[in-house]
Amino acid sequence: MMQLALPGLVTLQQDPALPDRRPRLLIVDDQPVNIQALHRVFAADCQVLMATDGARALQLCRERQPDLVLLDVQMPGMDGHQLCAELKADPQLRAIAVIFVTAQDRPEDETRALDAGAADFITKPFNPTVVRARVRTQLTLKAQADLLRELAFVDGLTGVHNRRHFDERLAAEARRAQRTRAPLAVVLADVDHFKRFNDALGHLAGDDCLRRVSTALRACLRRPTDLLARYGGEEFVCLLPDTDLAGAIGVAQLMEDTVRKLALPHPAIESSVTISLGVSAGTQAQGLVEAADRALYLAKAAGRGRVSWVAG
Ligand code: GH3
Ligand code: MG
Ligand code: MG
Repeated sequence: MMQLALPGLVTLQQDPALPDRRPRLLIVDDQPVNIQALHRVFAADCQVLMATDGARALQLCRERQPDLVLLDVQMPGMDGHQLCAELKADPQLRAIAVIFVTAQDRPEDETRALDAGAADFITKPFNPTVVRARVRTQLTLKAQADLLRELAFVDGLTGVHNRRHFDERLAAEARRAQRTRAPLAVVLADVDHFKRFNDALGHLAGDDCLRRVSTALRACLRRPTDLLARYGGEEFVCLLPDTDLAGAIGVAQLMEDTVRKLALPHPAIESSVTISLGVSAGTQAQGLVEAADRALYLAKAAGRGRVSWVAG
């Protein structure tokens, strides 16, 4: 999370050993004197990047992902409107906030800038206090939007990733597996007789059970690249990059055992809560989830509380 330290608030001294968490600001203007003036306003509180033309600014946006761009409109080559359009058309850069800083102050100029996706519009010559206040507002909004984007990938009940995040990571890992020929594994885990658990103990106890099961499953993952997500209802899914079938079966067996050892009472079946797991792995990512689902069905049919697998 970025830290909103700006003049008027306390300015924290950066420890050179720590990563710089100050908001990242890119100033774009073909006149270096204008860049200097804005640099003076923000140097103490932001990481300031600078560019004197649109092409270089676009490159910096790709390489450094600034939070906000203060953008001059009139520049030779790619002008401010073109640069703003490029940023807003690129899914990787769209979230960067843009404030136009320009000598043109006709309403139609302002409207054009806002229509192009700019967050705000400041006219030159600028007042430093006003610029600072407007930048602070946009940085706060950007931080909130970043947080919302993060939350959009987390399951509200369990705190593990959600299915949307799983789908995105699966697509990315599938491309990587195809490039590197490394195996990729998927494990699907489903709580056994969960409808009867809810019926016996109520939905809130059911929710609590799902939280405990997800915590137990997460503890079974060892590598930072392993991913656990709630796939839906009482079903969880793991994505294990660089993992072959034997390795994934090992993880799944550990998960089965770990949930069993939680010993959560399940009154309807007179034993504790168990999960069934389906495993699949292969270098072809396509069909992996479907194969894991078929394996899960086999585990259920064979009596639940166990691991089954099919090669992907
Ligand atoms: P099986 O062993 O074959 O998997 O049987 P099951 O009862 O677990 O499976 P079924 O699909 O019939 O029922 C799943 C139940 O999970 C039904 C649904 O009410 C419950 N469930 C799904 N999402 C939630 C949730 O977020 N909280 C709670 N408490 N229950 C949920
Ligand atoms: Mg179930
Ligand atoms: Mg189910």
